[in-house]
Amino acid sequence: MTDTSTITSDIVIVGGGIAGLAMAARLAKRTAFTITVLDGDRTPEMPDETLQLRTTSLNSAALTLLEDAGVMAHLPARFLTDFNRLEAGSRNAPDALSFSAEDIDLARFGVFVENDRLRAALWQTLASLTQVTLISDARLSSFHHNDDHVDGLLDDGRALHTHLIIGADGARSQVRHLAGISSQQRDYAQEAMIINVRLTGSPGHTTWQIFTPSGPVALLPLHDRQASLIWYDRPGQIHKRMSMSDDTLRAAIIEAFPTRLGQIDTIIERGRFPIRRLHAQRYAGKRVVLIGDAAHVIHPMAGQGINLGLADVVSLAEALEHESDPGNDQALSRYQRRQWPRNAAMLTGVEQLHHLFTLPFAPLRTLAERGLRGADRMGPVKRFMMSLATGQPLTTGRGHSDHDTSS
Ligand SMILES: Cc1cc2nc3c(=O)[nH]c(=O)nc-3n(C[C@H](O)[C@H](O)[C@H](O)COP(=O)(O)OP(=O)(O)OC[C@H]3O[C@@H](n4cnc5c(N)ncnc54)[C@H](O)[C@@H]3O)c2cc1C
Repeated sequence: MTDTSTITSDIVIVGGGIAGLAMAARLAKRTAFTITVLDGDRTPEMPDETLQLRTTSLNSAALTLLEDAGVMAHLPARFLTDFNRLEAGSRNAPDALSFSAEDIDLARFGVFVENDRLRAALWQTLASLTQVTLISDARLSSFHHNDDHVDGLLDDGRALHTHLIIGADGARSQVRHLAGISSQQRDYAQEAMIINVRLTGSPGHTTWQIFTPSGPVALLPLHDRQASLIWYDRPGQIHKRMSMSDDTLRAAIIEAFPTRLGQIDTIIERGRFPIRRLHAQRYAGKRVVLIGDAAHVIHPMAGQGINLGLADVVSLAEALEHESDPGNDQALSRYQRRQWPRNAAMLTGVEQLHHLFTLPFAPLRTLAERGLRGADRMGPVKRFMMSLATGQPLTTGRGHSDHDTSS
């Protein structure tokens, strides 16, 4: 029988990914609003010791947010791998760009953590809060706004009554679509293959990336001699590698990755993900606002997607903190004015790095590599890389923002 009950909440967050759940945790900490999180997927369970396919970097700003929300109590330290050095370059100049946390008096830039483990830890944190209601296996199918509230419908027949809808429903956001917010999109004709491996030795605490004309190869160091290898390439090539035997794949990795990778003991798991860029034209509408991948999708080579999403969380919570009506137009515009140009600057910066290293003409690539060799002395590149590592926003001077942010 169809459920025709109504869910009533000050704020409804559509999407219980990392951004949506962190949003609920931040709002619960900073405001008295009642919050409902709605997710189309099943309730996340805390994984056992087995390494999960997807891993993400968390910069220091993201870690502060999670610590403040009490999430770390559900995330044992042994599953977090510190990284204190970043290296990027080409085959000819593998460490052309290298940055150490020590250079800026930090013990680490951040940590690597499995997405599913973090998501489960966020869910567990929220499950104990009376202010928050978690609903899984339910999708938003429609909504319309009135002057002082929003009415919506779920695909299981239930109704929604709220004052603000936060769209945290990922790259294919239904909320963005229903709110009529358009976006600029670009398909890179590239995919990311993730190959989780166990090495014979420790991968250390450096994350590195080697750019090649078909896309970068990268290593994210993980706990227990494990590492996540990311191999960007054209979809046809990735398709071939996905169906290779472990031995053939191992030989292909040895050929494509630098020798510093060391020896692979076991190939644990592999998966593939399409790569694209997306930026919503605006983040705020009438009683609706976007965060995380619903608002922006960035090339993952800089490890920024979730870090930008968590910066949105901090910024939106700040805008709503002292409001009695969470759907207040001015508060939502404040959030948009602050976050849109910051994210646009990051999207543009990462796009430029991508272009630099996929230049089809070899002499130009060599020039780019030479440029990188001197990057330690190049203020803007260094500032950009540091901003990636720490989560401090880039200054949004001329040339960064490619869009007028007024709604
Ligand atoms: C290969 C790869 C590597 C990456 N590495 C990094 C990294 O190192 N660091 C980093 O910061 N980022 C990284 N990213 C990016 C990062 O994974 C994403 O930015 C992040 O997962 C987005 O989180 P989100 O919560 O915004 O969206 P999602 O994770 O897409 O979550 C959206 C949620 O909404 C739910 N949903 C969707 N539609 C509906 C609906 N209609 N109703 C209800 N629920 C709905 C879904 O079930 C899902 O749970 C990487 C991405 C890729 C592809």
